[in-house]
Amino acid sequence: MSYDDQNIFAKILRGEIPNKTVYEDDHVLAFEDIQPQAPVHVLVIPKGPYKSMNEFSAEASDAEIVAWVRAIGKVAEIVEAKEPGYRLIVNNGEDAIQEVPHLHIHVLGGRRLGRMLQKAD
Ligand code: 5GP
Repeated sequence: MSYDDQNIFAKILRGEIPNKTVYEDDHVLAFEDIQPQAPVHVLVIPKGPYKSMNEFSAEASDAEIVAWVRAIGKVAEIVEAKEPGYRLIVNNGEDAIQEVPHLHIHVLGGRRLGRMLQKAD
């Protein structure tokens, strides 16, 4: 399946839907999740049209990969989650219940987080 340029994050990247930007550079946009699951809940996305980690890791340029990883660290610092800690989550594909088909990493923190995984129903 090819990249769906009507997905919600593609619309955010084109400025068609507003977002609360936390960090931006040439390759990355980071913004607050609309339904936060913790006091800190930021999504960090590459600006390129990558559906998944699979595609990003195989097809993104070195510059895009470096920018994304560095941005994750910067976001943790900006939202003051670096200490005492935060959790990173990438839901990739159907089993992980990825809802938006544009690669994103969740940065979660601001409180003590519960156990990592729930069992599926
Ligand atoms: P996923 O389940 O795909 O890993 O996560 C998608 C995330 O995108 C969810 O946490 C959801 O709350 C968030 N989200 C969905 N639509 C919007 C939106 O329009 N704006 C923002 N900021 N976040 C959104």
